[in-house]
Amino acid sequence: MKYLSTRGDKTERAFCEILLEGLAPDGGLYLPQSYPQVDARTLARWRGLSYADLAFEILSLYIDDIPAADLHELTRRTYTEAVFGTPEITPLKPLAPGLALQALSNGPTLAFKDMAMQLLGGLFEYELKRRGETLNILGATSGDTGSAAEYAMRGKAGVNVFMLSPQGRMSPFQQAQMFSLQDANIHNIAVQGVFDDCQDIVKAVSNDLAFKRKYKIGTVNSINWARLLAQVVYYFAGYFQATNSDGDLVSFTVPSGNFGNVCAGHVARMMGLPIKQLVVATNENDVLDEFFRSGIYRVRGITQETSSPSMDISKASNFERFVFDLLDRDGARVKSLFGDTLASAGRFSISSEEHQRIEQFGFVSGSSNHTDRLATIRKAYQDYGVLIDTHTADGLKVALQQLEAGVPMLVLETALPAKFAATIVEALGIEPPRPAGLANIEALPKRVTLMAVDVQAVKDFVVAHV
Ligand SMILES: *Cc1c(COP(=O)(O)O)cnc(C)c1O
Repeated sequence: MKYLSTRGDKTERAFCEILLEGLAPDGGLYLPQSYPQVDARTLARWRGLSYADLAFEILSLYIDDIPAADLHELTRRTYTEAVFGTPEITPLKPLAPGLALQALSNGPTLAFKDMAMQLLGGLFEYELKRRGETLNILGATSGDTGSAAEYAMRGKAGVNVFMLSPQGRMSPFQQAQMFSLQDANIHNIAVQGVFDDCQDIVKAVSNDLAFKRKYKIGTVNSINWARLLAQVVYYFAGYFQATNSDGDLVSFTVPSGNFGNVCAGHVARMMGLPIKQLVVATNENDVLDEFFRSGIYRVRGITQETSSPSMDISKASNFERFVFDLLDRDGARVKSLFGDTLASAGRFSISSEEHQRIEQFGFVSGSSNHTDRLATIRKAYQDYGVLIDTHTADGLKVALQQLEAGVPMLVLETALPAKFAATIVEALGIEPPRPAGLANIEALPKRVTLMAVDVQAVKDFVVAHV
């Protein structure tokens, strides 16, 4: 399998060439040249596999430059009951007949990003060792991504993580999760500013190409193809749990921000997994909902701060991948829409004929706000006896509007309520329980360096710690 860019650069690249990369050189995102097709016989064969073995089968279709035995060992080491809490790894939690949550948030940081990041940690370590190289990951986080990256990379040979976060702006639990890590290769930098300041520092450091090369600066952001690929697996795992025979249809509702999670669902559907609908659920930052309804993609000037903060985006960084497929993989057209029109006008629109084709791809959408979120958290608790987090609530609210008789609906649970306790207390007046071992996490010793909004100070810190 070779990979190409959504903006038309057809240079063929192998999986391990793009593994450690961000954007393609032409500014596009990487996608496989084609989607391997999975027929009913293959589905039947995969149905009985463990999660780790299923992951190996799916990854093998896309990765031909890692020996099969090594890849299999990697998936078996990654997707274990010890790390993800259950033998199913992503078990279903039934809510009502034909409606269930698929639990993606039982990894070390209690959010779905662990599903991909844990594999990425193993892949990075493997490939860096093979090349005899090291990598210094520099990132900015407002919560889930940073902690997932740190827990995936802790103790990994050849990798250091430098994670910037806005001082005092993450929840105490999120802060404690990151700052309590004592691993020598994990470096927390609390910046006296907001998230955008952190992101600007990362951009400034990465734009210093000489520094970037000399100190081997890399990222683990959500456009990484390997992250997306790892996420494809749980759509299959959810399908097998929700159906008895191969050919039955299932729909998924996905709480969405950067379009990474649901884009993996799109890939699974393109491979032939019998998915009826992919329901995109947004919060008040409804860029994606607007596009699916109207065919107009309009980047927002201001990102609203909401009680489902991991979906607070003004621009969905993985969305270009879907548009590439929607427009028959016309790289020149995607380049003109995303590279030119969007950059100059902040928006683009597709034709009404193209907009109608969205249906063939199974996509529908909806959005949710703070009031909906509180009501949905209460409903889930009172009607179904299940405590859900704010992001999953956005999903469930929209899913309930899209139910179809005879088609099971799986709502992807993207975080545990313990991570966003304040809104649970607001909705229900109770503190969400914490998984065992995390009860007193705020009291653990912290390992963090406080810094002003100062690019040079961050560079000096990196130089001193590599
Ligand atoms: C990252 C995240 C999302 C959004 O996922 P995307 O891939 O960015 O669409 C939703 N919920 C939670 C809890 C997250 O951490």
